[in-house]
Amino acid sequence: MRVLIAEDEKKIADFVKRGLKEEGYAADIAHTGPEALTLAEENPYDLLLLDVMLPGLDGLAVCSKLRASGFAAPILMLTAKDRVEDKVKGLDSGANDYLTKPFAFEELLARIRALLRAKPAESSSVLTAGDIEIDLAAHKARLGKGELDLSAKEFSLLEYLVRNKDKIVTRTMIAEHVWDINFDTGTNVIDVYINYLRRKLETSPSKKVIQTIRGKGYILKSDV
Ligand code: CA
Repeated sequence: MRVLIAEDEKKIADFVKRGLKEEGYAADIAHTGPEALTLAEENPYDLLLLDVMLPGLDGLAVCSKLRASGFAAPILMLTAKDRVEDKVKGLDSGANDYLTKPFAFEELLARIRALLRAKPAESSSVLTAGDIEIDLAAHKARLGKGELDLSAKEFSLLEYLVRNKDKIVTRTMIAEHVWDINFDTGTNVIDVYINYLRRKLETSPSKKVIQTIRGKGYILKSDV
């Protein structure tokens, strides 16, 4: 899952980005309103974390503009504690939820998870594909009865593949949703991570859970 953090306070933005990365999210930072607009229009973010007080164009205006142009991902607004009217305006302008500053990182994470779960057609916090089970709330993955020992990035990649099970996903799609804007598409990092996952998921040589579709990408099969 890839998040855009629109926050001009560098310390907060860096802190949130680091925390999200540790949880396996990909995250980019925009420091001004116009920059947030441009990045959100150009990249397929799964969630936008949007500070109200932004230079150039405030968060409320960014939110309304994005919603008017069809931006469908959840928006979590960050507001100052004493600005109750911002919360109301934020929700009116198309935000899905808000969090007041200062906030505890754990609460931010919980709200992000809730918003990502609330996406249409996905009311459960458990995703499955064959005998793979991903518990998004607990951030755990299982294969049959055994828990999978995955790094944060492996977890994100598996989550993305399971969300798109039985469909071909291209390397570009994977890069856009699992890695951030600095991802170098010239490297073979995705293939390396696919192989890490294969080693953990393919418990017998005949069990080809993640198949390579030559010239296209990968497909996670739920019926092998
Ligand atoms: Ca700010």
